[in-house]
Amino acid sequence: QTSSTAPSNRQNVKVTVRVRPPNAVEMSRGETEIWEVNGPLGKVNIQPDYMERYRKQMAEYYYDEVFTGSDNKLLFERGVRDTVRSTMEGYNGTVFAYGQTSSGKTFTMVRILKTLISLKKMYIVSIDNEIICTESQPGVIPQAVDSVFEYIKECKEKEFLLRVSYMEIYNETVRDLLCPETDDLRIHEDKRRGVYVSPLKEVVVSTPKQVMKEILKGEANRHMSSTDWNERSSRSHTIFQMVVESTAKGSLPPRPNRYSTLGQKQSASVSISVLNLIDLAGSEKAASSADRRKEGAFINKSLLTLGTVISKLTDSSGGHIPFRDSKLTRILQNSLSGNARVAVICTISPSAINHEESQNTLKFAARIK
Ligand code: ADP
Ligand code: MG
Repeated sequence: QTSSTAPSNRQNVKVTVRVRPPNAVEMSRGETEIWEVNGPLGKVNIQPDYMERYRKQMAEYYYDEVFTGSDNKLLFERGVRDTVRSTMEGYNGTVFAYGQTSSGKTFTMVRILKTLISLKKMYIVSIDNEIICTESQPGVIPQAVDSVFEYIKECKEKEFLLRVSYMEIYNETVRDLLCPETDDLRIHEDKRRGVYVSPLKEVVVSTPKQVMKEILKGEANRHMSSTDWNERSSRSHTIFQMVVESTAKGSLPPRPNRYSTLGQKQSASVSISVLNLIDLAGSEKAASSADRRKEGAFINKSLLTLGTVISKLTDSSGGHIPFRDSKLTRILQNSLSGNARVAVICTISPSAINHEESQNTLKFAARIK
């Protein structure tokens, strides 16, 4: 519930770790599963039998929530839902999936898309229901969208205006996935709006279906412009943004297009908050070719800066926060400072072969908590 006293900053950052099930390749190779998860304790550790062989630094880690398996609904309920609710109550919120490529970030964030995009043609197939979570294990994005609309339906005393946008950051260049022709996206800052990207296409939405349509358009644009889709998708960050404006019911005269309020002076009774849902670039160390080294350097820098910025959010001692060190943190500046709520889902592979990257991910997760 809304409260004028800020809770301690630590509570504002929720860290979840998820160990995915072994995939077909790992099974066929008989890869060893080395991670043990204790849900009630929030603990992840290397199984005792493998401790000697695979321990590099710490062998045990504790987090707010830890999961194995494929239950996206449980993950959302326990790790993400509060962040989304807070956004509806006026706090900026951000949800990240962090981890090496193929550890389960996209499964966690955007699971519905696979069934909706025909991979060969990129046509958007129909979305049948008003509620979009028809998949058995919808990801964070579709569940968040449903949750937002449920909140609005239940909320009797306020009215809402929602706008969505969808961006990609690739090699420190920002691209508008809803309007790929725009080639001069810049980051601006002013007193009233804080930090924002412009000219960014923002679409006013009033149903979950409309939101999913925009996301699907964005995904289709991502696919079309890349020669090597897998490569690019593992090396870019995507930011799905929903701006939530709310006001007491009846306090504003109905307007045909309230989008225009953005350019006007906001009345004090309008609350504006942003929900960011982010599928990060793979956190693995850069491969060796020269091109990739450059991309890798950008990725490492933005992920490192992200870790620093989030860890400063949990620490009230003040001091310099390096938002400007990467496009990602700069764009998210308003959502990673002050009273913002952050949920990070760190995904790891279960296998011995990936233990180094998994350790790095667990360390990142430990550092931001
Ligand atoms: P990333 O986005 O981190 O590169 P993906 O989400 O694409 O990884 O996951 C890689 C593969 O593993 C996909 O085929 C995905 O469906 C599967 N996968 C990932 N996490 C899970 C999970 N928790 N349960 C079942 N399958 C998963
Ligand atoms: Mg992915």
